[in-house]
Amino acid sequence: MRRLPRGEIVAVPDVTLNNGATMPQLGFGVFQVADDEAERAVTAALETGYRSIDTARIYQNERGTGRALRGSGIAREDLFVTTKLWNDDQGYDSALRAFDASLERLGLDYVDLYLIHWPAAARNLYLDTWRAFEKLYADGRAKAIGVSNFTVEALTKVVDEGEVVPAVNQIELHPYLQQEELRALDARYGVHTEAWSPLGQGQGLLSDPALAPIAEAHGRTPAQVVLRWHLQLGNVVIPKSVTPSRIAENFDVFGFELTEPEIAAIAAMDSGTRLGPDPATFS
Ligand code: NAD
Repeated sequence: MRRLPRGEIVAVPDVTLNNGATMPQLGFGVFQVADDEAERAVTAALETGYRSIDTARIYQNERGTGRALRGSGIAREDLFVTTKLWNDDQGYDSALRAFDASLERLGLDYVDLYLIHWPAAARNLYLDTWRAFEKLYADGRAKAIGVSNFTVEALTKVVDEGEVVPAVNQIELHPYLQQEELRALDARYGVHTEAWSPLGQGQGLLSDPALAPIAEAHGRTPAQVVLRWHLQLGNVVIPKSVTPSRIAENFDVFGFELTEPEIAAIAAMDSGTRLGPDPATFS
């Protein structure tokens, strides 16, 4: 619960994952944030009311993130912490070792969600890696396990050949890349879709003329409109900012509702434009 500047009391809604665990639908990401800055940004986010934090080994800020989490005074069970296994740690034994190292850097004894960062299909190790994830889940050290950047092919393989269905597929998803096919497949398998770069990394998307009239109609910013669009689609979102005013702005997305025509106008913005690498080939 959190009282925002405009007065309303906000509780971020939870989504229920396929193993019964709950996850806040709005969280905070720390990609491209140096370790010390991550500590400051995560502290600001927790003070704003965010409870879900998304980091990764490759971001090199698990230590700073962990310091902010542990220093916040917020009970561990009220936090939701995600980290990710990097591509060169794929494989059964190396994944188990990488998980221990991430936990050690975070200073935690479990994570709420552990993700395979990319399928890296050319290396052909993600099924072995998934078996290690299943062990971490069975041992209760990862309360939920999932994947990131998994394509139709890779996700289908894990669902068909694994014991545990991934709880989450975290994929690049914003108005310029709406991922209809993958979102439908995730839903069919009971995998929750989580959007990375939900704001399209800022600038270009947020100044798109299609968003301005919608923002104006609600007295909101384009960033708030885009986050609201994700929430109404059912996506989990993890916007990133290191600027306290934007951290607060991105959290203030619950006191309004986009109309059907507004949702349709945003649907029309899809151009299939990727900001990040193509998951089919990246390894
Ligand atoms: P994002 O879409 O969240 O955009 C962040 C950028 O947008 C900021 O750096 C800032 O420049 C701008 N911005 C933020 N709030 C704004 C506001 N209110 N008004 C105007 N501009 C604003 O991009 P992201 O950081 O790439 O993605 C979010 C999170 O997703 C990351 O921090 C990370 O946790 C995760 N992620 C995961 C993967 C993956 O492969 N799994 C890849 C990239 C990002």
